[in-house]
Amino acid sequence: MLATISSAVVDGIDGLSITIEVINTGTGTPRFTVVGLPDTTIRESRDRVRAALMSSGYKWPATLPLTVNLAPSDVRKHGAGLDLPLALGVLVASKQLDQADVAGIAAVGELGLDGSIRRVPGLVSLAEAMSSVAGSSGAGSVADSDGRGELVVPLDGASEAAIVAPGRVRGADCLRDLVEGLKGEGPLPALVEAPAARCHEEGRPELSDVRGQPLARWALEVAAAGGHHALMVGPPGAGKTMLASRMSALLPPLDAADAMTVARIHSAAGLRQDGSGLDLRPPFRAPHHGMSSVALIGGGTASIRPGEISNAHGGVLFLDELGEFPRSVIDTMRQPLEEGVVRISRAHGAQVIPSRFQLVAASNPCPCGNGWTDGTCRCTEAQRRTYAMRFSDPLLDRFDIRIEVSPPEPRSLLGRSTEETTAEVAPRVAAARELARSRGVRSNAELTGGQLEAVVPLSDAARDVLEHELLRGNLTARGFARVWRVARTVADLAGAPDQIQPEHIRAALLLRVRVGALLGAAA
Ligand SMILES: [Zn+2]
Repeated sequence: MLATISSAVVDGIDGLSITIEVINTGTGTPRFTVVGLPDTTIRESRDRVRAALMSSGYKWPATLPLTVNLAPSDVRKHGAGLDLPLALGVLVASKQLDQADVAGIAAVGELGLDGSIRRVPGLVSLAEAMSSVAGSSGAGSVADSDGRGELVVPLDGASEAAIVAPGRVRGADCLRDLVEGLKGEGPLPALVEAPAARCHEEGRPELSDVRGQPLARWALEVAAAGGHHALMVGPPGAGKTMLASRMSALLPPLDAADAMTVARIHSAAGLRQDGSGLDLRPPFRAPHHGMSSVALIGGGTASIRPGEISNAHGGVLFLDELGEFPRSVIDTMRQPLEEGVVRISRAHGAQVIPSRFQLVAASNPCPCGNGWTDGTCRCTEAQRRTYAMRFSDPLLDRFDIRIEVSPPEPRSLLGRSTEETTAEVAPRVAAARELARSRGVRSNAELTGGQLEAVVPLSDAARDVLEHELLRGNLTARGFARVWRVARTVADLAGAPDQIQPEHIRAALLLRVRVGALLGAAA
C-alpha cells in the first residue's frame, strides 16, 4: 500500500513543496525507515507521530515494515511541519484512511503528543509552495486527485496561509477531528477567509509627541524622504528612541510586493500575530546590542531563520547604543546595507534573504552619557578615547545624516503640542519618494555617482560650496556624494525642482556633524 501526501518545508523564507510517500512493503521485519535527506528533527517526528496517533485513538502499525520517502530526495528536509502529513501517510499505508480521502490536499503542521496540531514557522511560504501543487496535475498522486486543492494547516496560524491561498485553507487543531472530517465521519475544519490587510495609519506613532526638537524632527523628515541612514548622538533622555520610532510612521506604505516579502519574512521568523492579513506598515525593529549575531543577521544550524536585519526589510532598523554592538555584527551588516539582501552561507550553499532597511542609530556621546562638551562628563580622557574608537570611519561613513540631539527645553513640554503631526509630514515624505521614483530609484539615497551628475545636477554656486568643503578636508570623496544626495532631498522637500542651490548644500552640511567631535575623539 502506497500513500502519497503533499506538504512543504521552508528554508530561509523559501518554501519548497515536498511529496511524502509511505510504503508498506508487506513483507520483512517491522520497521520505520525515513529516506530522502531528513534531518534529526524529522527523525524525531516518528515518536511524535506515534504518540499523536495512539492518543487520537488510531493504531501505530508496529508490525508493518514502513518506508517513508521524502521527495525530492536531493534537498535536506527539516522542521516539525512534516509531522501531520507523515501521520496521514501512516494512516493511509496502514489502511486506517483511504488515499482518496487525502487526494488533492496538502498538509503541514507539528503534532503534539496528545494529537493537537501546532503552529510551525513560515506558514506564508509553506502555503505558497503547497498551493502550487495541491489540486494541480502533474505532481505525484495529486495528479489524479479530485482537484480539491485545499491546504490543511494548524488553526493557529491559518490566517497566515490564507494570505496566499484565500478560501483554500483549512485550519485544524486536532488530528482526530481532521481525520474524521477527511473520512466524511464529521465536519472538515472550516475554510479560512483571507484576513483584511492592515492599513498604513493603524497604530502609527505620532510625530507631534516629539516636542521642542526642531532640528531632530527636520532631520527625521529628510532621512525618511530620502531614505538616508541617520545617526543621532546625544545623552540619555534626549528622545533618541522616540524620534527613531517615528521614522517608520513617516515612510510611505509598503507596496503589495514588499508587503508580501515582509509577510514571508515575519512568518518565517515567527513574528506575525494570528488573524492579521498583509501589513502595509513599514516595519520598525529595534534589536538589543546583546542579541546574538545569528538573531541579528540571520542563520541557524538546521534551517535558516531570518534575522532582525531582514525583519526590518522595507522599514527601519534602529540600533540604540550603536557603540555597544559587537564590531563583527556591524561589519557583517556592510554587505546587506549595500546589496539590500543578506547572504547566509552554510554547508548546502547560500541562502539569500531580503534585508533592505533604513538604518537609524543612536549613541550616547560618552560612556557616562552626559557628554563632554558641557562639563558634566564623569569619564576619563582614556575612557572617552576607547569609546570613540568603536566608531570607525567606515562605520560613520554609512550615515548620510548625523546629528546631535539634546534634551528638549522643559518649556517646550508644557501645554498642548503645536508640533506638526505624522499625518501632516508623511505626505511631504511621500511626495519626495515619488520624485525619487521618477529618477529611477526608490529614494535619493540610492542615486549612484553617475546618476548624481546626470539626474540631479548642482548649480555652479552649489558645486563651489561643496568643493570648498572637500578641499578644506571637511569631506571625503564619499562624503561629497552623500552630502549631494541629502541636498537633493532637502531641495525636494523645499519644492525646488531645478538644480541644487548653495542653501540646499549648506542645509545638508548642517545634518552632517563631525561625530568624532561629539564623541570627544579628535578633540
Ligand atoms: Zn562621560
